[in-house]
Amino acid sequence: MSDSLYFNLQPQFDIEHKLRGFEALARMKDSDGSLISPGEFIPVAEKAGLIDKVDISVFRNAARFFGELIKKTGADITLSVNVSVRHLMKNDFIDEIRSIIDTCGVPADKLEIEITESIMIDSAEKALQCINEIKRMGLKIAIDDFGTGYSSLSYLINFPADMLKVDKSFIDKMNSSDSSKQYVAAIISIGHIMNFDVISEGVEQPEQLETLRSIGCDFIQGFIWGRPLSPEAAEDLVIQMMHS
Ligand code: C2E
Ligand code: MG
Ligand code: MG
Repeated sequence: MSDSLYFNLQPQFDIEHKLRGFEALARMKDSDGSLISPGEFIPVAEKAGLIDKVDISVFRNAARFFGELIKKTGADITLSVNVSVRHLMKNDFIDEIRSIIDTCGVPADKLEIEITESIMIDSAEKALQCINEIKRMGLKIAIDDFGTGYSSLSYLINFPADMLKVDKSFIDKMNSSDSSKQYVAAIISIGHIMNFDVISEGVEQPEQLETLRSIGCDFIQGFIWGRPLSPEAAEDLVIQMMHS
């Protein structure tokens, strides 16, 4: 598995187009060299009980690369990684994070763990304990695909996240009707009331960017400013951004 599994890095920017960091995204190649999309292999890995191995391999390899990158460039950027709900609640996950921080030379506060909203519905208590432990270690927490799950506001108030990621499906619809735009504006307001930063995913059109700017979105992740990149291309971007 390890030869065919690798990672890309998609840049995240603040609304002024300053680089915030990267999200590590798993990539997989078939034996004939053709690309399999995460939409296909992540659910399969989940069913087969292999998702922890995927997560940890992406986390470790991306963190190793990232540790060298910030050492080399001195860039003040964050690395976000996706972790499946079930993995997060396993007993050895905290040890895995600790080992990655120790061996990869990435400061804990430059790492962000992305989890999906469903974690708040399934086993809320246990999940909260784990998340609090991760926060105590200094890492950030992002709630991925926000708006697609069913978390209640009362739960969100007590949730120790740092970042809300507005799901692409809302961004897609945003400029088709006034109510869709109001909906995204409401998500951003709620995020800010909870003291979270808000990032919009899947921003492709200049009109979407303009709307997001006008309704106070903090960060942007989308093809408009950057597709998922190879580690080498990500390094070039960091260097270019530091000299611009
Ligand atoms: P995600 O974590 O919500 O990641 C964002 C997805 O949106 C990525 O798809 C990214 O390529 C895509 N995206 C970002 N901006 C745009 C845009 O402007 N237009 C379009 N069309 N797409 C955009 P990707 O890489 O296919 O990943 C899909 C999902 O697979 C991820 O969604 C995440 O849930 C999962 N995934 C990826 N890597 C890992 C991993 O290492 N571990 C786990 N557990 N899940 C992963
Ligand atoms: Mg994600
Ligand atoms: Mg997402």
